[in-house]
Amino acid sequence: MPDNAEAAVMDWIAARKDAMVDLLREVVDIDSGSYDKSGVDAVGARFLRFFDEHGIAGWREPHEVFGDAIHGLVAEPGANEKPILLMGHRDTVFPKGEVSRRPFSIEGNRAHGPGVADMKGGLVMNVFVAAAFKALGGAPCPVKVLITSDEEIASPSSRPVIEREGRAARAVYNSEPGRPTGNVTTGRKGGVFMRFDIYGKAAHSGGNFTSGISAIGELAHKIVQIHALTDLDKGITLNVGLVSGGQSVNTTAPHAEGQIDLRYIHPADRAKTLAAIQTIIDTPTVPGTTAKLEIKGEFLPVVETEASKAIFAAYKDAARDAGLPNLAGEFSGGCADSGFTASVGTPTICGVGPVGGNAHTVEEYLEIDSIVPRAQALALAILRTKVD
Ligand SMILES: [Zn+2]
Repeated sequence: MPDNAEAAVMDWIAARKDAMVDLLREVVDIDSGSYDKSGVDAVGARFLRFFDEHGIAGWREPHEVFGDAIHGLVAEPGANEKPILLMGHRDTVFPKGEVSRRPFSIEGNRAHGPGVADMKGGLVMNVFVAAAFKALGGAPCPVKVLITSDEEIASPSSRPVIEREGRAARAVYNSEPGRPTGNVTTGRKGGVFMRFDIYGKAAHSGGNFTSGISAIGELAHKIVQIHALTDLDKGITLNVGLVSGGQSVNTTAPHAEGQIDLRYIHPADRAKTLAAIQTIIDTPTVPGTTAKLEIKGEFLPVVETEASKAIFAAYKDAARDAGLPNLAGEFSGGCADSGFTASVGTPTICGVGPVGGNAHTVEEYLEIDSIVPRAQALALAILRTKVD
């Protein structure tokens, strides 16, 4: 590697700040809610065009229901080293029409618009880092870019792709937004999203009260019991965040339902807590009710390992040399795709994207001045990766 390789890649990226903001504007201004396949695919097509414009091999892995997975690869011909995987999702939580209400805009150092930080900013950073290595060479191993389509709904179509690519990689950088502090995410909770249904019996609650069996009465008991599984010291939290049920005010409720969000830190707590929830579901307090439980979606935790601590330490040094001296690792209770690659055993750090905040709200912002240094930090970390 020539001595000036680091300076060359830093300069190449610094010179592309405006190009990065331009691409960010383009992709933010395409609605791409998780269930909007055509919108998600339109964002994917823009990134494929970017790969094409920069001579990067790019292809799509089709999916019938959700957006296609988008792949990009920078590799020397015949390279067979394990790649570094730069990962991110291009779906947002926002409905179709959001872009026309509040398109990409800039106020001072902050960019706004749906998905600007979570995580189109990170995707733009990833593809430009790949383009820098395509233009300059010097990456010690292949650089793989994966742009997924459905993270905001727990990656039903992307999870197998992420696990496969994660297993094949030597390290994973997931470009979710950097924390508002500027820190990256070195640990994440796992999350399980569940739905439960309770069945009772309808009866007129005035004329025929004793024939009724109230599913809502049972729902109330189950909510209290499920919430009681929370153990803050262990990092286990339970939230019944949605409920509905009943037919009319003067009918005993024949049906009720709730949705549960379980978060945990230690992988072993997942099975233990799920078993406790199942017992609550199977054990009626209101005689005559029955219930069933269904897992609707799931994220695995990012557990720190010796290998992930090592790539974080190297990334931190790279960030310092890119002008980010105070960067540290943070733990987040939020879930992301990085849990899937961490759980297949590949060292993973998350939140290496440009710094932003207020994700999932109209207040979402991205700090424009963070795009270049975060891209430089990632590029330096890649450049310095030891490949044996
Ligand atoms: Zn995200």
